[in-house]
Amino acid sequence: MPERPLTTVSQMIAAGLAPSGDAARLEQVAAGFRIRMTPAMRAAVQTDGPADPVAAQFVPDPRELITRPEELADPIGDEAHSPVPGLTHRYPDRAILHITRSCEVYCRFCFRREVVGDEGTLPAREIDAALAHIAATPAIREVILTGGDPLVLSARRIAAVMARLDGIAHVDLVRIHTRIPVVAPGRIDPAMLAALRPARLTVWLVLHSNHANELTPDACAALARLADAGIPLLSQTVLLRGVNADADTLADLFRALIRNRVKPYYLHHCDLARGTGHFRTSITEGQEIMARLRGRISGTCLPQYVLDLPGGHGKVPLDPGHAQQVAPGRWLIRDWRGKTHDYRDPDA
Ligand SMILES: *Cc1c(COP(=O)(O)O)cnc(C)c1O
Ligand code: SF4
Repeated sequence: MPERPLTTVSQMIAAGLAPSGDAARLEQVAAGFRIRMTPAMRAAVQTDGPADPVAAQFVPDPRELITRPEELADPIGDEAHSPVPGLTHRYPDRAILHITRSCEVYCRFCFRREVVGDEGTLPAREIDAALAHIAATPAIREVILTGGDPLVLSARRIAAVMARLDGIAHVDLVRIHTRIPVVAPGRIDPAMLAALRPARLTVWLVLHSNHANELTPDACAALARLADAGIPLLSQTVLLRGVNADADTLADLFRALIRNRVKPYYLHHCDLARGTGHFRTSITEGQEIMARLRGRISGTCLPQYVLDLPGGHGKVPLDPGHAQQVAPGRWLIRDWRGKTHDYRDPDA
């Protein structure tokens, strides 16, 4: 297993992950979108080549050079709701603090791929301004640390930000969106665990994971350390063609997450980021997969399938509808086998 992350096209080719014949086109991809794959993820690749569901997430692909007309530089409209640099405040009660733009890996389908990797950590004066906005906005009850990946920062820096958020009385909750427990599990060490337990605030961690093969023994051990430390764990998964876009693969992933005390939270429809068309399914395919999962796996394993609307209009559920009102108080309800039932709503 290599000691260092793979960050260049030539390292990817030397590792047997990309064909040398693609070198020139992959260099073009690399000029637009940074490359980084950690040793843990290299070790999780089971079949060399782009068909592997872990490799497909991190190894650059010539298809990234194709930009479809509908693809956008800011696919979910982060910039539409940014009161100060580094802060996205779209919903009244919660705000996102982009504490860093760096990640431990660069996912080829990233919805923030135009900005991740660029600036590194938010400069101190911008952190000050963002925290001042939060402190001056009593409606904000939850602060979501994302990036980039907030856990690339040292435990000392995370503890410092937590301590400052701890001092803002109207903030109840900090949510951390991260891939670190999977892609660099060794970073979840005692210092990091301590940093994630501020004096007053409740911290929830939302793990980004897309395939059961990512949940290596080391990753499972890191998740166990977090759960044992009392940190509630949720997950988000991106629906990705060539990685996980079928019911069997997602059933395996969601069951593995639940076994590791992680509750599947969101299944994201793949956003319209530039050069990601080869990953994207149709919404109908996503709904069919969700319908097949319902009833087949425990309800505790099921996430909500969501679309983040372009333009900053927020997330909306896409789960297939099961209930249809056909007359006042008369509903047609579809069960998990697809059979329809009449239901009279006595309170209508
Ligand atoms: C996704 C997102 C959130 C969190 O939404 P939840 O539905 O609470 O998980 C908050 N703010 C922004 C800007 C987001 O994109
Ligand atoms: S870890 Fe998240 S923010 Fe970072 S590259 Fe992957 S999808 Fe993008």
